[in-house]
Amino acid sequence: MTSYASQQYKEIVTCDGDLTHVLRTPTSFIEETDWACVEPAVQKLLYVRDKVLGGGAGLAAPQIGMSLPIFIYTPDRTTAGLRIVINPSMEPVGTSFVRGEEACFSVPLRCTHIDRWEKIKVRYQGVNCQWIEDVLEGFEAKVFQHEMDHLNGKLTLDHASAEIMTFTEACLFEEHMKQIHLEDSKTYKRGAAS
Ligand SMILES: [Zn+2]
Repeated sequence: MTSYASQQYKEIVTCDGDLTHVLRTPTSFIEETDWACVEPAVQKLLYVRDKVLGGGAGLAAPQIGMSLPIFIYTPDRTTAGLRIVINPSMEPVGTSFVRGEEACFSVPLRCTHIDRWEKIKVRYQGVNCQWIEDVLEGFEAKVFQHEMDHLNGKLTLDHASAEIMTFTEACLFEEHMKQIHLEDSKTYKRGAAS
């Protein structure tokens, strides 16, 4: 199933209705002594992605109103490849950028051209507290950076490099997103970094 940010969902906080500023508030590191908050947040993220949105490349806890450094993402837009990321950090590998378009469930009916690092080294914890290190590139690197931004209180619109396209009709937006997905599938190699 393909999912687009073409409509608003009551479970998703959007930039237009963020009364508590949860989207613009940086999250704080979860210590192991506070790990009890992880499981319910992960379950809610998985529920909302699967049952409410019907898919999506990534979803971060602030988007469902939880100010926690947790997100889920998929390197290939499938549910089978879903990863759970807690307390992440990242650094660029090399100095190359890729400029591409990004949509976001928290920024409905808009698409943003934005620069992202082409390749990144990441470190994060899994649900059992274990530390994971990886080097990501292509589409996976782009999604990871987008979700990291959510944990830092930053949206696509906030980037200095952002060029924003706004759509007045959901059908026009969805048509545009189909093109983006097609371009993504041609531009990015799959599974090269996992
Ligand atoms: Zn987003």
